This record gives sequence, C-alpha cells and structure tokens, in this order.
Amino acid sequence: MSDSNTEWMVAEVCRLYDAKGDKAVSAAKNGRVIQYRDFCVVVGTTDTYVVDDAFCTCGDFTYRGVQCWHILAYRTAKALGTIVVRDEWYHDLLGKPGETNTI
Ligand SMILES: [Zn+2]
Repeated sequence: MSDSNTEWMVAEVCRLYDAKGDKAVSAAKNGRVIQYRDFCVVVGTTDTYVVDDAFCTCGDFTYRGVQCWHILAYRTAKALGTIVVRDEWYHDLLGKPGETNTI
C-alpha cells in the first residue's frame, strides 16, 4: 500500500521534523509501532513507550512537554497502515501480577 500520498507524507514528516522525523518514519516502516489489545506502543532505541494520538509516556513528553518522535511514529504508522497488531495484552508483558508495581 504505497501511493503518492503516503510517500508525500513521509517526505513532509522528514522535512518538518528533521532527525525526529527520520526516527519516526523508520520506526513506522520497521514494524516498531505495535498495537496491543490495551495499548499502542513504540519501540524506541532504549525503551518502549505507550503512545496514542496525543500522549506518550516518555520523558520528553511527560516532563519537558515536547512533542516527541514516538507520537510522530504512531501517527506516521497509522497513516501508512504499518501498525503491527498483536492479539495480546501489553500489561501482561510488563510484569507478573501480584508483584510490586512501580507505576
Ligand atoms: Zn515519546
């Protein structure tokens, strides 16, 4: 599913966001935006973050109020149709229930 619209959008994301755009596009194209049953996550270079259209759990977004590349990756993957869908619960992967939770 690659038409001129999505190519144009990818080019725009790269142009507008520079390094962030490159990261976002490569994550979106490499299956690193994953939709679980409960959350959507972006697999970053050092960690995995829960994202949606306007929210992200990374430090840039929550502490510094910056639009981070994870949200951009999510939007790009959505537009390109490259979100990987997994029929699993993300919170099941986070840790075993009953143990101390730091969230
Ligand atoms: Zn983020």
